[in-house]
Amino acid sequence: ADFGFERVALAEKQGRVDDVFHSVARRYDVMNDLMSAGLHRAWKAQLVAMLRPPKGRPFAHLDVAGGTGDVAFRVLEAGGPATRVTVLDINESMLRVGAERAAKKRLDDRAVFVTGNAESLPLPDASFDAYTIAFGIRNVPRIETALAEARRVLRPGGRFLCLEFSMVDVPLLDRIYDAYSFHVIPRIGARVAGDAESYRYLVESIRKFPTRGAFSGMIERAGFRHVTDRPLSGGIVAIHSGWKV
Ligand code: SAM
Repeated sequence: ADFGFERVALAEKQGRVDDVFHSVARRYDVMNDLMSAGLHRAWKAQLVAMLRPPKGRPFAHLDVAGGTGDVAFRVLEAGGPATRVTVLDINESMLRVGAERAAKKRLDDRAVFVTGNAESLPLPDASFDAYTIAFGIRNVPRIETALAEARRVLRPGGRFLCLEFSMVDVPLLDRIYDAYSFHVIPRIGARVAGDAESYRYLVESIRKFPTRGAFSGMIERAGFRHVTDRPLSGGIVAIHSGWKV
């Protein structure tokens, strides 16, 4: 029987994630650089290198959980003049920062910012050439639902790419990474964002996320084909890829 407990727990999870990003939106980009020691830039560059947006034809891209627009701007810069990006996020504070950055970079004529939930995209079927989600799917309460939505909005032949924290499986690096996650990250969170607890929560959410094999299985079950996963930086993060055929 469904007593609604699960629904309440999932809503609580989303509420908690929303609080974190509302409070951190203005400092989000600085925090990212600090916490990943700048590595997130290389990981995002790798994501866009795998995507390879075409230069010479129209390309409709959707970046979900796009936050302050980091991935979107990279896609626009790598693509051609007919590349268009929709940045979707559940959090208006993050999107506001993104829209301001887009205007400063003079990319605002090719980027639109949409408030929405990855679990129920307010977007038509088969309308995008590619879908990316970077450091976002871990925060979504119903991952399977988000994957089904990704597939729905992609056109046949469209590409799904997900950049997310993964599992370090290199001896020694795993120990260093644990120490860093549990001791350094909450401290940076406390110093810069005045909020150690939220960062502790984010570290825990990384631990709870499915392994590469398990997550690949979920992407396959959502109906994607030719699913691959590629660990980066010893498995600190991974890029999962799939195609809608
Ligand atoms: N993709 C950006 C990047 O890599 O810099 C932002 C990543 S940030 C760690 C996670 C983002 O996911 C936040 O902006 C948050 O608001 C968003 N988010 C969390 N739950 C979401 C949901 N259910 N639907 C859409 N976005 C969500």
